[in-house]
Amino acid sequence: MMVELEQDGTIGYGEASMPPYLGETQETASRFLSRVDLSKYRNPLAMADVLSDVDAIAPGNNAAKAAVDIALHDWVGKRLGRSFCRIWGLDPAACPVTSFTIAMDSAEMVRMKVEEAAPYKVLKVKLGGASDREMIEAVRSVTDKPIRVDVNQGWGERESALRMIEWLARMGVELIEQPMAKHQVDDIAWLRDRSPLPLFADESVARLTDLPAAQGVFDGINVKLMKSTGMHEAHAMITLGRSLGLKIMIGCMTETSCAISAAAQLSPLADYADLDGALLISNDLFRGACVVDGKVTPGEEPGIGVSKLS
Ligand code: MG
Repeated sequence: MMVELEQDGTIGYGEASMPPYLGETQETASRFLSRVDLSKYRNPLAMADVLSDVDAIAPGNNAAKAAVDIALHDWVGKRLGRSFCRIWGLDPAACPVTSFTIAMDSAEMVRMKVEEAAPYKVLKVKLGGASDREMIEAVRSVTDKPIRVDVNQGWGERESALRMIEWLARMGVELIEQPMAKHQVDDIAWLRDRSPLPLFADESVARLTDLPAAQGVFDGINVKLMKSTGMHEAHAMITLGRSLGLKIMIGCMTETSCAISAAAQLSPLADYADLDGALLISNDLFRGACVVDGKVTPGEEPGIGVSKLS
């Protein structure tokens, strides 16, 4: 769902991406957005106040809130004449290389997709099914690029999860994302104590308030705008995460270049990037962050660094 904020002839663009498993729909987002009234704010530059009011309208609705947050950042950046990367004092060239996602598929399809991923220096392989070893062996039969594994909560039992991680470490995997269900906190902590690879939280950590509980359970967090309610809280999560000793990944859902470019503005603050969302769609509405030397690099245009394609 795309959002536009307009005042004094300046338009800010925002986006909500709603994967079905998180429960938001176009209908829930429309209902939430119909309750957002920004006309009462005399100073839209006071974003923290505006966004805290928007957050208080109703619980949940994280992607709908992110759409407002991204559009407001775009509007404010355009007013200030700077990209958010520059406003935050970051170097756009400092962002980490992005991974490119290889979904669960037959060995033959996996090999084909790895070849399509030639411009990317790191692969993210989705595991958590019955053929995890076959997936990794298929990837390894065609490339020796670093692999990151995302289990999407798919492993149920910690002993077999540990044996799998030990095997993956020997196969050149560099990290494991969300190995077990988010309610299996004790099992994940047990796994982390023994795992040769760092464990990253995705589903376990959505917002700032989830962060303290990740300490001692995970080594890092995957920060996504659609979970965090947007750029403002994502920035705070990165700051708090670092102070808690957690590594930072900046990630995404399936998104257009609008939300991806917004996330890319934060990318220089991250250790790892997984910003391939707009590379996986064929109906992008924006031009923005682009891939330079394997890095999804933030655009320099003011705001979130996008222009709308006509
Ligand atoms: Mg994930």
